[in-house]
Amino acid sequence: MQQFIPFAAPDIGEDEIAEVVDTLRSGWITTGPKAKRFEESFGEFLGGGLECVALNSATAGLHLALEAIGTAPGDEVIVPSYTFTATAEVVRYFGADPVFVDVDPRTYCICPAAVEAAITSRTRAILPVHFAGLAADMDRLLAIAKSRAVHVIEDAAHAFPARYRGQLVGSLASTASVFSFYANKTLATGEGGMLVTRDQTIADRARIMRLHGIDRDAFDRFNSRRPAWFYQIVAPGFKYNLTDIAASLGIHQLRRASEFERRRTYLAKRYNAALADLPVVLPPQAVDGGTHAWHLYVLLLSDEAGISRDAVIDAMHANGVGCSVHYIPLHQQPYWRDRYELTADRFPHSEELARRAFSVPLYTRMTDLDQDRVIASLREILRRR
Ligand SMILES: *Cc1c(COP(=O)(O)O)cnc(C)c1O
Repeated sequence: MQQFIPFAAPDIGEDEIAEVVDTLRSGWITTGPKAKRFEESFGEFLGGGLECVALNSATAGLHLALEAIGTAPGDEVIVPSYTFTATAEVVRYFGADPVFVDVDPRTYCICPAAVEAAITSRTRAILPVHFAGLAADMDRLLAIAKSRAVHVIEDAAHAFPARYRGQLVGSLASTASVFSFYANKTLATGEGGMLVTRDQTIADRARIMRLHGIDRDAFDRFNSRRPAWFYQIVAPGFKYNLTDIAASLGIHQLRRASEFERRRTYLAKRYNAALADLPVVLPPQAVDGGTHAWHLYVLLLSDEAGISRDAVIDAMHANGVGCSVHYIPLHQQPYWRDRYELTADRFPHSEELARRAFSVPLYTRMTDLDQDRVIASLREILRRR
């Protein structure tokens, strides 16, 4: 029996393991010097001149970014329906309302025209998702946001590293970008996230709110002889700090980011070549100096395939290959659908994607032979018809 090929798997090397052991032996296992080092290296990777705030998840980062811009009950935040629930749930934390819009079928990312039509006097921010690792149409989104005086907060959970018109996501002109280091993301620390911003005020607020609303600098402003035990609580904050254990993984994952990127790109191109003649639509590709992070490789099953998407996933599983679906759109999820009376007719492109999309394995530890098995399995299933 051949080994099962999982849908995703982390790539943890000996350097990551040694760094975690070093942290465990150091006596300092929660947020400390390694989290700081990870923040600094992350900012350097993105080109410098950025504030990076390490957190225990991207969800926390989205929450803190919305908090820092003053999101309040009754505000609206425009989000794509075709995403993971974290993108929208953080808006509800404030008693604010996500406004769901459809995606652009060319990118599977939020549709700028739909965003423009959804802006009201209550809109506080636009929250695009760089779906699968391909950047949304940021020029248009930033232009719309500027003209309507609203913020752009990027859900960059899939987009490390991805370039938009030659510039790394995280260094664009939005208010903030948030990356995820969840176990199956392109850089993994088990759980973890990074809020990145050029805005010192946003970064300062996020640093206070990530740890109970503690402001260690407040006292310094009046008295430089602050004792080590002293702190001031300036807000009811959260518990969102990244541990040094997790940061130990992040430091070394980051060093391998370019190697990881090359491997993912290689595998994606190999899929493109091997699957082009099958009754599937290949994933959208990066254009205009952009690059794709290839967190996910999402295929759309064509109707002429003569088999349902669900049956393809079952058959792949029977052949020892794990596949997944990204995503069941939020307008189909009971909470969001019922809370906002969302109907399918408002999301034709998300509906179409949700019906046809399936994601095949793509991870750096996958060998060429593993990928050959995935390809052979899919070819066999789709040829059987
Ligand atoms: C993974 C993911 C998140 C949440 O990331 P966490 O680090 O698990 O909080 C948010 N948005 C999208 C699109 C994601 O895929």
